[in-house]
Amino acid sequence: MTHPDNTDNNKTDGRLQPFFSRRKFLQLGAGGLAGGLLVERSYDYLAESTAKAKIVIVGGGAAGITMSAYLADMLRYVDITIIEPNEIHDYQPGYTLIAADVFTPAEVSKPTKQLIPSQVKWLKDSVVELNPDDNSLTTAVNGRVAYDFLVLVPGCQMDFNLVEGISRASLGEGNVHSIYDFKGAVLCRDAIKRLPATKSGRLLFTNTYTKIKCGGAPKKICLLTEDGLRKGKLRQEFQISYYANQNELMKPKVYGDRLAGIFQSRQIEVHYKHRLVAVDTAAKKAVFDVLPEPSASPSPPLAAYPKLTVEYDFLHLVPPMSAPDFVKNSPLALPVDKANPGGWVKVDKQTLVHATYHNIISLGDVAGIPTSKTGAAIRKQAPIAAANLVALMEGRAPQAKYNGYSACPIITEYGKVMMCEFGYDDKLMPTIPFLDPAIERGMWWTLKVHGLKPMYYHGMLKGLV
Ligand SMILES: Cc1cc2nc3c(=O)[nH]c(=O)nc-3n(C[C@H](O)[C@H](O)[C@H](O)COP(=O)(O)OP(=O)(O)OC[C@H]3O[C@@H](n4cnc5c(N)ncnc54)[C@H](O)[C@@H]3O)c2cc1C
Repeated sequence: MTHPDNTDNNKTDGRLQPFFSRRKFLQLGAGGLAGGLLVERSYDYLAESTAKAKIVIVGGGAAGITMSAYLADMLRYVDITIIEPNEIHDYQPGYTLIAADVFTPAEVSKPTKQLIPSQVKWLKDSVVELNPDDNSLTTAVNGRVAYDFLVLVPGCQMDFNLVEGISRASLGEGNVHSIYDFKGAVLCRDAIKRLPATKSGRLLFTNTYTKIKCGGAPKKICLLTEDGLRKGKLRQEFQISYYANQNELMKPKVYGDRLAGIFQSRQIEVHYKHRLVAVDTAAKKAVFDVLPEPSASPSPPLAAYPKLTVEYDFLHLVPPMSAPDFVKNSPLALPVDKANPGGWVKVDKQTLVHATYHNIISLGDVAGIPTSKTGAAIRKQAPIAAANLVALMEGRAPQAKYNGYSACPIITEYGKVMMCEFGYDDKLMPTIPFLDPAIERGMWWTLKVHGLKPMYYHGMLKGLV
């Protein structure tokens, strides 16, 4: 099994059987670290439910696999199908570290088959239409699939084409890069490695105007590139700029302020209220909308603003993102208009149950909830969503509540990370409360580079942490 975009890959095949179920593990009374991690759960977690229903999970990414693991463990009668087209599952936070030449491409990927719990069926197919009034959906190959309960987790759609002159396939052309794509991350790594040979240049890093997954990623790759040049004693030869659509680098403010200080001290020019709208890859020119203060809405007509054209030698961009079209065009989405172009799924922000269709749950990147779209958020959402789904299957009201927790480990340089953790309403939620969270530390780098990927593959996706 090889990554569709990579030949240097993990060759393992065959499904791994879980070496223990979480429930059995707890019933055996095992304590230690895993017990400590699980004890924070407040809902009825040890009980095995005898409820019977057909559950369909759309998307076998971080949220889909994690949900399937929790549900398979909580239910005695498991009738769960994951619909997922891709044979390869990537640990997407690793894309940043591929571009930074810390991980090899092969290190971030595993065969999907190996990650799906043995009791769960996998339909290798793509959903093209949702029919919630009929409790069914339509797939590209197998046609109609009926369900009793639906877990809707197809992640983000990346709309590269909304930047004029750019497409996902064109990444790399004209030295335009994006780590929001596996192949793009590899090309970006190669371009960064070529910088010393070019000896000088103008490097642009941009973000975008929509909600995105891991809002920290463009800042991480900007800071890592700057750090690499600085440590290679080449920094003075390069002009580095960061163009932000917003008027801050990050929320909550304490993290944004600290980051602004870091960018300033490293002479990275920050241009707020600039939105990348077009790139001429042949001429190496980037065109920005210059937004007024304050911006009228997140997505006003693009032609309404003055334009700024900036020449570049290297450009890293973030594509605008939205819910996949089949979600956006369904009755399950929040209304799509200029102020709200995402079409994210309309769920209750605490229970993650759909506002209208109470047999549907959504979490992860596609959920329309006011928190940051990260894997760290899914780690906290999945046990809550699973408990609420089981409650609904049993005819009970969903009671488990998600507090908006999300985390973004901002890599500020090789060897240091600022662990930004927060919840709804920008509440700070540091895992270690007595440490100032807005400080970059070596210990968080160790966790980011050596701890989080094993935790993802061997803990989170198995419903253990
Ligand atoms: C560059 C980068 C850096 C990141 N850094 C971090 C970080 O440091 N920390 C962190 O916590 N998070 C980080 N993230 C974010 C994290 O990876 C995502 O939030 C997480 O993967 C989202 O999980 P998901 O299941 O919602 O979506 P995904 O994992 O994207 O999975 C969605 C799945 O749905 C499938 N799908 C799509 N359409 C259909 C369809 N029509 N039918 C069936 N299936 C479909 C897809 O194939 C995919 O497998 C980063 C992401 C990127 C790209």
